[in-house]
Amino acid sequence: MSQLNIYNTLTRKKEKFEPINPPFVGMYVCGPTVYGDAHLGHARAAITFDIVYRYLKYLGFKVRYVSNITDVGHLENDADEGEDKIQKKARLEEVEPMEVVQHFTIRYHDNMARLNVIRPSIEPHASGHIPEQIELVEKIFENGYAYESNGSVYFDVLKYNKDHNYGKLSGRKIEELYETTRKLEGQQEKRNSFDFALWKKADEKHLMRWNSKWSNGYPGWHLECSAMGMKYLGKQFDIHGGGIDLQFPHHESEIAQSVAAYGSEPVKYWMHNNLITINGQKMSKSLNNFITLYELFSGENSLLKKEYSPMTVRFFILQAHYRSPLDFSNDALLAAEKGLQRLIAALETSEKLKTSEKSTVDIKKIINSAFDALNDDFNTPIFISFLFEAVKMINFIRIGNETITQFDLEELKKFLNASVFEILGFKNEKSSDTDNLKLSSDLINLILNIRLDAKKNKDFATSDLIRNKLTELGIVIKDTKEGFEWDIN
Ligand code: ZN
Repeated sequence: MSQLNIYNTLTRKKEKFEPINPPFVGMYVCGPTVYGDAHLGHARAAITFDIVYRYLKYLGFKVRYVSNITDVGHLENDADEGEDKIQKKARLEEVEPMEVVQHFTIRYHDNMARLNVIRPSIEPHASGHIPEQIELVEKIFENGYAYESNGSVYFDVLKYNKDHNYGKLSGRKIEELYETTRKLEGQQEKRNSFDFALWKKADEKHLMRWNSKWSNGYPGWHLECSAMGMKYLGKQFDIHGGGIDLQFPHHESEIAQSVAAYGSEPVKYWMHNNLITINGQKMSKSLNNFITLYELFSGENSLLKKEYSPMTVRFFILQAHYRSPLDFSNDALLAAEKGLQRLIAALETSEKLKTSEKSTVDIKKIINSAFDALNDDFNTPIFISFLFEAVKMINFIRIGNETITQFDLEELKKFLNASVFEILGFKNEKSSDTDNLKLSSDLINLILNIRLDAKKNKDFATSDLIRNKLTELGIVIKDTKEGFEWDIN
């Protein structure tokens, strides 16, 4: 089998995956800011790194997967000015900020559970790590890469860039940043518009605040991931992931903070998933094309033709490579729904196949090609296309166009089950209880209709026999004008 290669955003090429301290792998993924319900974008990031987590474990690595919950410090427009997103929601709803956090964290976990996303090993909250964040600011300050201004502390990007390279992850140049960072009100505190806040002094209206030697205030948004990644995974760890929209300034600044504090590169492999567009447009509240996961699962959004199950959404997301853009449309979701059904149906068929003395099919080739795709930077669409090769094969064997030995069939089933459930993380959404109930009631209706015909034909012996036998089974039958009603005693 080939070796796992990962596309590293930092070096802009695919690299052989060699963890710093095998078999242990440290992985950090930026989690949600919990001020609203999770949408398709959240699902894509979570599922992308769920696959990375699942596959690394499948390969035998011991993974510590850390993903944070941002509950403080993330301001509107991802900027250094403006209201805290959670505080704003709390103000509008007339509740405590931590009530907002609790409410949306529970709902986020519920959505992720429906999507069968495995919970990370550690889910630290930013508000629970204020001392660690203050300590990091102090370290950066000591090393001369931060300055205080009116009780707030800012990262000195220009100074840092003289000694290191601010922009190496996103490919941005300092000269461009002069033009692209907007001059906002209050930014006169900063030496340069692209400097970012490490600590902000709280104004009188600010609710979430802590004491520090600089002021009573709160940490900058980029700080929590540096502090918590370091705390749980060490000063250098293997994988850091997140959406491509976090590359700049969030991840760029995370690197700068760690290097400024400890002089070492914090992350070996940076991974970024691409975004989801809706009918070709960027998803945004202002364009009114925002679809939350709850809406997708219930169908309650005017952009939706119907409801889509969590596994359909998962399949839709995995049918694209995580670094490619993915466009939402009802047609794409409907196709995903059909595709997944075909895959699950073939798994069921594989349990009933007849085996032969000789195989006319090449199982090994499909299995090897499939894993080659996965090892090529988690190429799930190609991986899935080989699963469909296997589906085709199963259907040919079923109708007798191909044959398979017992040994090969066991291999094929093992491969498909590991691929579909363990690695891709699908679960069979048909609950067997509901299925059995439906089957039972269909059968009772069928039998009672036969009895109805018997009665019409004056075959009372048959009709009485059916009635007596069903009564013995605890089924209460009531004859009505229209036909019958029944209930289970
Ligand atoms: Zn982060």
